[in-house]
Amino acid sequence: MALKMRTVYTSIKDITPSTRDWKIKMIVAEKSPKRTGQRSPVKYQSLTLIDPEGNRLQATIFDKDINSRKDTLHIFQSYYISNAYVKPLDPKYRIETHEYQWILNAKTIIEEVPKDEEQLEPPKYQFIPFNELDAYKNSIAEIGLSLSSRPKSKFMINPVIPEATSLQEWAAINDLLLKSIIAKSLTYPFASLSSVGIREIIKNCDVAEFIKSLQPMAKTKFWIKAKIIVVDLRQIFFYMSCIGCNKGTGYDYNDTFLCYHCKHQSISQPRCRAYVELDDGTGRLSAVMFGEVVEEAFGCSAVELMNHTGDEHLSYIENLVAQVSQNEWKVELLVDLDRLNQKQYKNFNVISIEAVQDDTK
Ligand SMILES: [Zn+2]
Repeated sequence: MALKMRTVYTSIKDITPSTRDWKIKMIVAEKSPKRTGQRSPVKYQSLTLIDPEGNRLQATIFDKDINSRKDTLHIFQSYYISNAYVKPLDPKYRIETHEYQWILNAKTIIEEVPKDEEQLEPPKYQFIPFNELDAYKNSIAEIGLSLSSRPKSKFMINPVIPEATSLQEWAAINDLLLKSIIAKSLTYPFASLSSVGIREIIKNCDVAEFIKSLQPMAKTKFWIKAKIIVVDLRQIFFYMSCIGCNKGTGYDYNDTFLCYHCKHQSISQPRCRAYVELDDGTGRLSAVMFGEVVEEAFGCSAVELMNHTGDEHLSYIENLVAQVSQNEWKVELLVDLDRLNQKQYKNFNVISIEAVQDDTK
């Protein structure tokens, strides 16, 4: 059998559905995980390939071809590709400007570029610092900033590029800081913000109804506008905690110890905790607040609260909670139905508070 001679192209623009016996060197720039279509159970994986002239191409692998191709088409590796199914691409699915997409099916030939041959250059990315992402969001409606993935989003884990290397070095140095941020956010396992308008203020008398409307096991957040009332003046308003992960510890103030939660050498510090009732005039809700939220509401630090523990300081606490109850707050609460259904967790968790500006004055 005669060997078929393939023409080696350098631009995808010269390869159309009618081109025969073509071959081209391409580099894999992006590769998505396996996904399921929104309207069909078909699984697919999308890739962005770049030709020697820098043109970008969308390619897709379907169903069982995904697994059979899993040992090839690695990110930033170059390959010779031929026999892909070249197909017009509906403009509404176009991410790149090229009018065709390639389906990489069982007939497609994917060969590694020989070691002694030049590999293609990985693409250059424009990296946007988080503090400049603001300019890219299309709405100012929400306070704060979060990133969400879309069906077409792709993530690259530890790509071999200089920007990623310096970020990894930074992360290694700031390991304790990152762990403590992650541990803090794990204290509040957020549900998707889209389930409830996050700025919707719910009246206490409607909370029961709101909770009934939730799916079983749901976690969600809601806001109420309320005064913070401390009923139990003899509660201990702090606990000793690991400064790295905020978990409670039996160590004393300023002891250094190895924390078995976050596995770090740590220091024991008091952290505020207050069991309160939130009164909005229509009813009261039991809640627990931690850390900075208590410090903000009470206007004092965890160390001050620690130093005013015990019956001899009761008048200090009375004064303090009387002041606290004067102000009105927008209080963000977490509902975790799974936990609320267990008897020992009868309190809502306060996630954040915001002073209500009294503009009648
Ligand atoms: Zn810890």
